[in-house]
Amino acid sequence: MLEYPSRIKLAQTPTPLQCLDRISERLGGPRIWMKRDDLTGSALSGNKIRKLEFVVAQALEEGCDTLITCGGLQSNHCRATAIVAAQLGLKVCLILRDDGDGEMDGNLFLDHLSGANINIFPRRDYFKNLNQYFDQFSKTYLQAGNKPFLIPTGASDEIGIWGYIAACEELKKDFSDNNISPKTIVTASGSGGTQAGLTAGSDLHNLNADVIGFAVCDDQQYFIDKVNKDLSAWYERYGNSHNIQCDITGLKISVNADYIGPGYARADKNVFDMIAELASTEGVFLDPVYTGKAFYGLVSEIKAGKFQGESDVVFIHTGGIFGLFPQRKNFSF
Ligand SMILES: *Cc1c(COP(=O)(O)O)cnc(C)c1O
Repeated sequence: MLEYPSRIKLAQTPTPLQCLDRISERLGGPRIWMKRDDLTGSALSGNKIRKLEFVVAQALEEGCDTLITCGGLQSNHCRATAIVAAQLGLKVCLILRDDGDGEMDGNLFLDHLSGANINIFPRRDYFKNLNQYFDQFSKTYLQAGNKPFLIPTGASDEIGIWGYIAACEELKKDFSDNNISPKTIVTASGSGGTQAGLTAGSDLHNLNADVIGFAVCDDQQYFIDKVNKDLSAWYERYGNSHNIQCDITGLKISVNADYIGPGYARADKNVFDMIAELASTEGVFLDPVYTGKAFYGLVSEIKAGKFQGESDVVFIHTGGIFGLFPQRKNFSF
């Protein structure tokens, strides 16, 4: 049996696996099943909380009392980290990037309410100096007598990977409960950790399904390298001690980078139309940064006949609803 490292219960799991009958029928392709990880909490919703169950457990094990992490202004990961910190009585420091006016909306608003120490840098400086910022804030907290724990972008590292390895156990049961054996699991990829976890988890828990990450930024090679890097680091750290029966070099890493659109957190009209269509057809809300792009990608691929012969596909709804509000102006009604 696979042995997990320490974990604290933060997410509301198992999440439902829901069949989207109406939209599937409209498309005439395979049935689309949605793993509702947008329901892992209310304000804590989304995929990041699954990773944080392991990452924050590690922080506590090391006796840390402060979490430092980073992301875009509307980062779901930063919001989830800020709320977890508040729940556990930890301090949190966020390093955010933005070139706009830092409008107090969506996730950023929740960050503030959660009492996070918020630091916003222009994009160029952020990408150039991120490591330096981490060092600098660590020092400040250390000097104040705190013990900081650093969490990388999206909590996508060798510890965070466990979140979606564990989620694959849920999927295994979901598939057997619904009597389905999907050949494809689709997720949005932003920092690659969800895809890395699903890819390893699918193998470890014998789901017999390929995982496709729909990139929302960067390019195909970036995600192939990133997923490989996270998996290697994971295996190096845990491979000898956690009864891991998995040949990571044999894992198939599939990235579709055809639906990135104009760039990170920027989407075309197609994506906004898709979000509105799914909301009105199924009562499910996607976001314009991640899930809207990935779902639009999946639907486009189904329309192009890419899933012919498959009866069921699974889409991981990774959350992101608060990222919808700051982009309300992109919808026309
Ligand atoms: C972060 C995020 C993703 C991408 O997950 P990664 O593990 O960073 O690739 C997808 N959807 C939502 C809503 C997210 O917040």
